Amino acid sequence: MQPLTCQSCRRPAEASRLTYRRGTECVAREGLLQCDLCERFACADCLEVYDIFSGYDFLCHICAQIFLPARGSQRGH
Ligand SMILES: [Zn+2]
Ligand SMILES: [Zn+2]
Repeated sequence: MQPLTCQSCRRPAEASRLTYRRGTECVAREGLLQCDLCERFACADCLEVYDIFSGYDFLCHICAQIFLPARGSQRGH
């Protein structure tokens, strides 16, 4: 069963936080997404730094940095 709060930022899973990006389009979800690697549930706010790969594949921001180290957001660091 999914938790009612994001396990990354601890904010409640309100409807406004459950619209995720998938490439350039948005995907509306009824609940939090679960990371495929660490199995943590996260809201759309925590997903803003990366994209959903498919309808089911999803990485949290921590695992996304490991898998996608060169997304342009690491410039100058
Ligand atoms: Zn969050
Ligand atoms: Zn993860």
